[in-house]
Amino acid sequence: MVEAGAIEEIAPGVHVIPDGRVEFVPNVGIIEGERAVLAIDTAMGHLNGRTVLEAARKLAGDRKVFLTTTHFHPEHAFGAKPFEGGVTYVINESQAAELAAKGPEYIEMFSTFGPGLAQLLADVELVPPDLTYEGQLRINLGGRAVELLDVGPAHTRGDQLIWLPQERVLFAGDLIENAFFPILPDPDANGVWWLEALDRIAALEPETVVGGHGAVGGPELIEAFREYLERVRDRNAELEAAGTESGEIVTTIEAEVLERYDGWGNEVWIKSAVESFQGSVPS
Ligand SMILES: [Zn+2]
Repeated sequence: MVEAGAIEEIAPGVHVIPDGRVEFVPNVGIIEGERAVLAIDTAMGHLNGRTVLEAARKLAGDRKVFLTTTHFHPEHAFGAKPFEGGVTYVINESQAAELAAKGPEYIEMFSTFGPGLAQLLADVELVPPDLTYEGQLRINLGGRAVELLDVGPAHTRGDQLIWLPQERVLFAGDLIENAFFPILPDPDANGVWWLEALDRIAALEPETVVGGHGAVGGPELIEAFREYLERVRDRNAELEAAGTESGEIVTTIEAEVLERYDGWGNEVWIKSAVESFQGSVPS
């Protein structure tokens, strides 16, 4: 569950409720401006959504509250219901479409991950955004510029960055995670696209990087994901060229990266990273 009491101010008026490395809990952001406050990610289920909303309202006081989500995945966006009415929810077009298309199947899928999750998701209602944009949207919260940037597909079709150009703080969603393997859960996640998204992320030159999960860090988090994905890509190409069959390539690379990235979580997703570099990239 989201622990609002653990909230940290990582830059003046820029807050993170850290995930505490708890599974299915994301890093949540709350950004203050003079006129409005922006909450980033709802966490999963109405209970967590309410916790995030209350934390945002507590900081906001009389100021208006906006909500955005880094991507449609349940632990990031399926707590939006309590925000409905009174809060403006804004995301990019492709994320909105992806939420509508895949939302119900992801509720079902995540409900099989354990009784706790099934309970959290039992009464979930998917909430469409109030506002969408294509490409990028600049919001002025009052003395605080925030840029919403559509960078998908990579981890999902509708991946979105939240970028604070003055403070050089980036909220990257699951495109960056600290000491977790990248998650590629369906065909809209692909290592080739992900590396392209990392180029765009690095070009922003952020000083502070808040990933979807794991401790807040700096640009080294971008380089760690790039190094991992390039390694998987290059090893797969070498083994394919040597005529190794797909299953054995996966087993070989899994063993290699588990040793190299000792302590990283989510190792179940190494296989799909390897497979995303096999065959042609879907268009
Ligand atoms: Zn995700």
